[in-house]
Amino acid sequence: MTKKTKIVATISDLKCDIPFLTALHKAGVNVFRMNTAHQTPEDTLKAIKNMRAVSNKIPVIVDTKGPEIRTTSLRDDAVSVKRGDKIKFIGGSDKQTSSDAIYLNYDKFHKVIEKGSQILYDDGELEFTVVDKKPTHLVCRVENTGLIKGKKSINVPGKKLDLPSLTEKDKMYVEFSAKHNVDFIAHSFIRNKGDLMAVQSILDKHKSKTQIIAKIENREGVDNIDEILDHCAGIMVARGDLAIEIPAAEVPPIQKDLIKRCIKKRKVVITATQMLHTMIENPRPTRAEVSDIANAVYDGTDSLMLSGETAYGKYPLEAVKVMNDVALEVERVKPIFKETVMNSLPDDVPAFLSKSAIRASLKLPIRAIITDTLTGRTAKYLSAFRGNTKIYALCYKEEMMRSLAFSYGVYANLVPVRKNTEPLFKEKIRELVKQKLLKMNDTIILLSGEFGATPGASKLQIAEVKNLLK
Ligand code: PEP
Repeated sequence: MTKKTKIVATISDLKCDIPFLTALHKAGVNVFRMNTAHQTPEDTLKAIKNMRAVSNKIPVIVDTKGPEIRTTSLRDDAVSVKRGDKIKFIGGSDKQTSSDAIYLNYDKFHKVIEKGSQILYDDGELEFTVVDKKPTHLVCRVENTGLIKGKKSINVPGKKLDLPSLTEKDKMYVEFSAKHNVDFIAHSFIRNKGDLMAVQSILDKHKSKTQIIAKIENREGVDNIDEILDHCAGIMVARGDLAIEIPAAEVPPIQKDLIKRCIKKRKVVITATQMLHTMIENPRPTRAEVSDIANAVYDGTDSLMLSGETAYGKYPLEAVKVMNDVALEVERVKPIFKETVMNSLPDDVPAFLSKSAIRASLKLPIRAIITDTLTGRTAKYLSAFRGNTKIYALCYKEEMMRSLAFSYGVYANLVPVRKNTEPLFKEKIRELVKQKLLKMNDTIILLSGEFGATPGASKLQIAEVKNLLK
């Protein structure tokens, strides 16, 4: 049995050999992601070459670090601080951080942060409150005992900061992605359409087909989700940073809302971070992790993401297997999004045909839907229902085949452009019969473009395999 929910695996350049990547793919991974935060372009390229050697069906995501505030390196060893201690925060200096002052890469930090603000350090490991504001620095109280280390992230929950859309390293990686035909750039901390346009304009300069995934990881990204969805291929619900930037308790309802909006607009949605975090160290998941995966599938996510679990964890294949098994189990029983989708598809021919295909698949024992697609539109309409019938997409472009690898229930392969599409469909049916995925008595749906690739789907056929092969 093949699951319909897709799995994105994060890969480190330190563990990216072809046998390992092949094993992940065989276990159920559909997409590879490189987190470039701690990589050089040479490292990234080496890993991408290996990913491409595994299969031409697997898209690669290059994930940028994005604009963020970081502390400078530490002057001495890690400094231990305890609740009630006071320490200065000073922006715009490259002086080394020490036991009396934390220096940050953002010039205006001490000017724009108000007294009473909460500052989170190192993904929330340490919390500070601003108790006094001086012209040259902030005086902050330590709220929990812990260690100050060098080069750590800083978050000021809820505060809008005028950070640039891209750092110099991000720009370099967008150019790198364009040059090496990377399928997707996942850009961190997307706040609005402007951040997306900044990435897109670099891609356009290089006439690149690389598509953008917006990582939603702060309040502004959540608030501006509608304009963001209109300017990207999809989003990642980046729950790691999101749960630092906004109260963690707000994240589950936000996840549900973001997924619903993506389904309505037929944009890809990846649910990410700590899905099987304890499996970095342990061979079995916690019950809560299993429930978290199940809930994301119930919500209707297209893809689930593994981070440290596959990048450096001790049990990467086991983690993929758990994700795969949970997805399969939930897919059998979860609701489909019939009404949401019926009411949100546009008035075009492929949409009417897709709605009929879905209605038929709810009443008849339909084993599969096969469709040909140039732009991915029909396959995405069908996927949006999150139905129980597998969708086989015959794609006329390689990049379209890879981009559908994210979409719920869609399994794509490349076919040549032909005036008469009938032989392509017959060939696919024969292949599925040979793979024992279809039997002669099975009823299937064909949704085809009778007038070549460009005009789109024009014909719906419902018939038994044996008749279609005559
Ligand atoms: C996240 O914050 O959830 C996330 C996916 O970001 P990254 O892993 O790139 O830090």
